[in-house]
Amino acid sequence: MITIALSKGRIFEETLPLLKAAGIEVLEDPDTSRKLILTTNQSDVRVLVVRATDVPTYVQYGGADMGITGKDTLLEHGSQGLYQPLDLQIAKCRISVAVRSDFDYQSAVKKGSRLTVATKYVAIARDFFASKGVHVDLIKLYGSMELAPLVGMADAIVDLVSTGNTLKANHLVEVEHIMDISSRLVVNQAALKLKQAPMRHIIDAFESAISK
Ligand code: AMP
Repeated sequence: MITIALSKGRIFEETLPLLKAAGIEVLEDPDTSRKLILTTNQSDVRVLVVRATDVPTYVQYGGADMGITGKDTLLEHGSQGLYQPLDLQIAKCRISVAVRSDFDYQSAVKKGSRLTVATKYVAIARDFFASKGVHVDLIKLYGSMELAPLVGMADAIVDLVSTGNTLKANHLVEVEHIMDISSRLVVNQAALKLKQAPMRHIIDAFESAISK
């Protein structure tokens, strides 16, 4: 049995064509089914539906043999024990710093004054501002980061940006592009040794599908 951990939403949708290239079709829709283990047309392949931030944990501890997760999640979680053979080039976005449109970010950063930053991505934000020599007080949030500058809780946020519509709708502007993000295939190294042939087949099919 090969177990693949996926999260609902964009990653799930964009993974379906890759699975198809490996001959795998998921038989249930995670948006309508309450099941957390989804069957596929291959009796020896199943899909686990987990939170995006839990994908590396399931793969690391062997609850899943492989999974797909964003580079953002891997950088925050760490990638101990995870083999990362492929950048799947899906769920592309960027991680950026954004502030209220009336906040003078350039002078706040130049003066070296402390900046309060709200984010789910504490490790990425800490490393980024440290590399710029800017002192930051980090506030950890789990969602709706855009609210923090609007209610005066933070000067800036560090968040994923795709079209920029969410920032715009909340009168925020992007002031720094920290890095580009896409989703990666992560593989449990012990599982790869034990189930080499079927796992290699999936990895190779994904690889040829993304290079097309
Ligand atoms: P957008 O309005 O298109 O810029 O999307 C921004 C919102 O979608 C933010 O709340 C982000 O956290 C979320 N988002 C954008 N891209 C991704 C992605 N690839 N994976 C997960 N969340 C994303």
